[in-house]
Amino acid sequence: MSETSAENPQSIAVVTGGTRGIGRAIVDELVEQDYHVVVTYRSSEKSAQDLRDLLKNKVTVKRTDVSKQNEVDELFDAIEQKYGRVDVLVNNAGITQDRSFIKMDSSDWKHVIDVNLNGAFYCSKRAINAMQKQNSGRIVNISSIVGQQGNFGQANYAASKAGVLGLTKTLALENARKGITINAVCPGFIATDMVGAIPEEVKEKIQNGIPMRRFGEAKEVAKAVGFLVSKDSAYITGQELNINGGLLTH
Ligand code: NAP
Repeated sequence: MSETSAENPQSIAVVTGGTRGIGRAIVDELVEQDYHVVVTYRSSEKSAQDLRDLLKNKVTVKRTDVSKQNEVDELFDAIEQKYGRVDVLVNNAGITQDRSFIKMDSSDWKHVIDVNLNGAFYCSKRAINAMQKQNSGRIVNISSIVGQQGNFGQANYAASKAGVLGLTKTLALENARKGITINAVCPGFIATDMVGAIPEEVKEKIQNGIPMRRFGEAKEVAKAVGFLVSKDSAYITGQELNINGGLLTH
């Protein structure tokens, strides 16, 4: 893997879509926990380079479109060749392409499913393969409150995030005896570019509906992910952890 500079990698974590937003905060959290973090991105070259410059040998930053199985396979082939193991996978890469269902065409549908759900499938497949050989591993999938309760204009996104929950629970059952835990976190509305794209008046309405009256911070999601990959969470698998300021309570 040409972009790697770590000479003595410890445990290896993979974070998809980790150069911005929630993923970026998760990278910081995992570096703090002493993981060498393999970070993927799709198009943000500048934030990728900034991350390399800032965290240097603590991260390997690689362009990988998670919706393309061949690119995911290349990534994991390189990780296996260089490090021989995968300890943590965080399926974080995600997009929205919002439209009311009546106006939503099949390309809006497919693109979001390809990135958010198929991407998690391709990455999980390779990570679990490595983790089963090790008899250990942690996967955290970033789902969403929208996958739990739906949302206007987000049929594609809601279906992808509900799909991620189904994937999480099934993989948890299939891998519980292999020492691998698989959980999901379901953020509500977190202050990142994704929420920044919502029109101001809609954002204000959303915020007023949140019991805590504020959007969450990326770091607050990252801390929950940090817990789910830690030794302290060894008996937790197949769960949805809500991080939503009280917006949904169940
Ligand atoms: P964001 O700021 O828009 O960042 C999205 C990240 O995903 C970027 O790093 C982006 O890389 C990457 N990405 C997008 N398409 C990709 C692809 N095909 N292959 C690889 N990487 C790709 O979003 P965010 O708010 O941090 O969201 C992160 C995750 O949390 C997503 O799964 C999202 O659905 C979920 N979530 C967010 C919220 C929220 O309120 N923000 C709430 C619930 C769930 P590039 O920059 O290179 O394109």
